Amino acid sequence: MSTPSNTPSSDAGGSAVDVDVLIVGAGFAGIRTLYETRRLGLTARVLETGGDVGGTWYWNRYPGARTDSESWVYAFCFSQELLDEWSWSERYPGQPEVERYLRHVVDRFDLRKDMRFDTHVVSAVFDEATGTWVVTTGAGETYRATYLATGLGHSSFPYRPPFPGLDGFRGEWHQSARWPREGVDFRGKRVALIGTGATGIQLVPEIAAQAEHLTVFQRTPNWVLPARNHALDEEAWRGIRAEYDTIWQKVFAQNFALPYDSAHRVAKDVSPQEQQEILERGYRIGHFQFLFETFDDVLVDETTNELVCEFLRGKIRETVKDPVTAELLCPRYPLLAKRPPLGTLYYESFNRDNVSLVDVSRKPIVDVTPDGVRTAEADYPVDVIVFATGFDAVTGSYHTLDIVGRDGAHLRDKWQDGPRTNLGAMVDGFPNLFVVDGPHVPFANIPAVVDREVRWIGRTLAQMREDRYTVIEPTAEAVDKWTDLMAELLQGTLLAKGADVHAWFLGGNIPGKPIVAMNYHGGANNYFAALDAEIDADYPGFTRR
Ligand code: NAP
Repeated sequence: MSTPSNTPSSDAGGSAVDVDVLIVGAGFAGIRTLYETRRLGLTARVLETGGDVGGTWYWNRYPGARTDSESWVYAFCFSQELLDEWSWSERYPGQPEVERYLRHVVDRFDLRKDMRFDTHVVSAVFDEATGTWVVTTGAGETYRATYLATGLGHSSFPYRPPFPGLDGFRGEWHQSARWPREGVDFRGKRVALIGTGATGIQLVPEIAAQAEHLTVFQRTPNWVLPARNHALDEEAWRGIRAEYDTIWQKVFAQNFALPYDSAHRVAKDVSPQEQQEILERGYRIGHFQFLFETFDDVLVDETTNELVCEFLRGKIRETVKDPVTAELLCPRYPLLAKRPPLGTLYYESFNRDNVSLVDVSRKPIVDVTPDGVRTAEADYPVDVIVFATGFDAVTGSYHTLDIVGRDGAHLRDKWQDGPRTNLGAMVDGFPNLFVVDGPHVPFANIPAVVDREVRWIGRTLAQMREDRYTVIEPTAEAVDKWTDLMAELLQGTLLAKGADVHAWFLGGNIPGKPIVAMNYHGGANNYFAALDAEIDADYPGFTRR
């Protein structure tokens, strides 16, 4: 085992450490954490499995991959200069542009020198004698650090297609989350696409435009909202920049950390004709604005939710010419019981002669044969299979490394029945471990959530330094309370219905995974307030020494 040649930087519990903070992951969470620790004058090192920065944006380079948050708020807000100098080219930037942005950020702030790529962390063990974390990589290197911060990502542990026979398939197959850098040539090919989540619906128009034939295998239809993507010219950016302060204020005041106003009305406040006019207006604007600026009770009132669902079913029926296909594409569960994606030309693709839809809800995919996909009803010979089957989301990435806390406790055992944290940030029994944008944080615009959580970590570390503490850990009572709150908040929304439709944010998409609230569903704004309140009350949910 080799030891990295860092100069020991500080002392915790009497043992020299290689760095103050060891950060796992170089996506939004890891980059933001590295920036914060640097700002505090701490030494830090990022270890990343991928070959460069990006996290989810490094791996998910499938055609059509782009953000669902508007670019101007899918960004770091810690630096005014960065906001002033970076202009996104579109309302929703594609994967290459997000990757370019993240590279720009690490170079701009000289963060790269503290990052190690192609370095997979296999274990992190808390050494009680010295109060430090000992982190081991796949290559056998070890690092010792006072603090460990994990920015492993929500959607980073792909769900391997579960179909028997895949290894014997004679064609080529690809998984969206591990897309080849050189791309895939679909020209002249018969292609099967399995999965119609946010990823699958972005792939459909792209593959359809190239392939000889595309067969989409759908188990559960999705509510695909109109993205209404467009280019952003200089004038658009002048407008955004003139309002940027207000935009970010709105982000931090909104339930999903998006810069929207509340509708200030519920559906029953207005006449049926006005309801339709409001929905039409919202639909023309598109994006999640359709959800948040039409009626305030879409997420909580079944009648309003169904009103909006029926409006959307009408749009699907209007768009898709074949009535049988249109009906198959119409979801029958509440909007937001699954995470609704934004689409461009998704429904329209089913009007193409070279695209067909196969419903596998009742007649499932049985296996992959040497020639293609077999369902309980028929064989579909294809040349290429694309799996957009999602992720063991939120907690799955925590199974890729063994995190061992006090008394030899393994995090994966502690989270066996579902994640347990205080504030989504720390876990009892795992001192000085900061979980960045892991479970129990809001189901919301990720860069904004990361920003506030990392800001809390930064303030906490600064306070500890001032108070001369070196160890922080949440109390078991605070962890119980926060974990119970996650379940309670979920039940207050229609997102709880996700349990019926394999919603990944409840763990329902992975066979055998416990169905629990893995996120905070009380509104991102309230989560940010809870972080501040913990500091203002001098950390009642934590012990420090
Ligand atoms: P996903 O939403 O979990 O979708 C996986 C798809 O695979 C579902 O349609 C699922 O069907 C299907 N599937 C899984 N196992 C199957 C089986 N045995 N037979 C047939 N179908 C099967 O995964 P995702 O599309 O990768 O998206 C995950 C999340 O990542 C998104 O919700 C979003 O948060 C994020 N994401 C964001 C963007 C963006 O911002 N633009 C893009 C992509 C992903 P069921 O629905 O029946 O389970």
